[in-house]
Amino acid sequence: MTGPPGSGKGTQSKRLAAELGIPHLSTGDLLREEVSHDSALGRELSPVLETGCLVPDDTIIRLVGERLRDNPAAVLDGFPRTVAQAEALDVALARSKRVVDMVIVLEVAAHDLLARIAARGREQGRSDDTETAMRLRLREYEEKTAPVVEHYRHRGVKVVSVDGAASPEEVEARVRRLTA
Ligand code: AMP
Repeated sequence: MTGPPGSGKGTQSKRLAAELGIPHLSTGDLLREEVSHDSALGRELSPVLETGCLVPDDTIIRLVGERLRDNPAAVLDGFPRTVAQAEALDVALARSKRVVDMVIVLEVAAHDLLARIAARGREQGRSDDTETAMRLRLREYEEKTAPVVEHYRHRGVKVVSVDGAASPEEVEARVRRLTA
């Protein structure tokens, strides 16, 4: 599941994973866990997360690699976020004769995203939910992550867009219909 920051991919991918009875794998959560455990990697990545830049591909690919091996199926949230990550995922899946079944893109207009992120920053205190970081995260999404959707289209993978501006329940119902 992909979409710009604040599009609701965390909420929706968790709900979808629960519905399908398969694990939810979020690279953002994995990275925040490293930071909260104050691991060496967490200390190195904390400033990167705070600015809103993407973490280097090799770090992410390493972090996700073993979880992919351990789980025969998963809802991926926030990964792959670059074409290089998508290519690494393709190779890893091909090795175990698996594929990306579907790409779900949550679409939300930029001005709504800024409002949502400001609210989440107040509620959850996420250090990258500031306006400056948010603008950078949006730019990273447009420059590096949007091409990932094209990568999958070219490879013939089913890509579906869902209007993410509706209530979480409505979006969930739409996602459920698409994946039923
Ligand atoms: P998220 O929770 O998905 O919004 O991710 C929060 C932050 O974690 C992003 O702004 C990036 O700094 C980093 N991040 C999460 N997933 C990735 C990824 N696949 N590649 C690079 N950076 C990532």
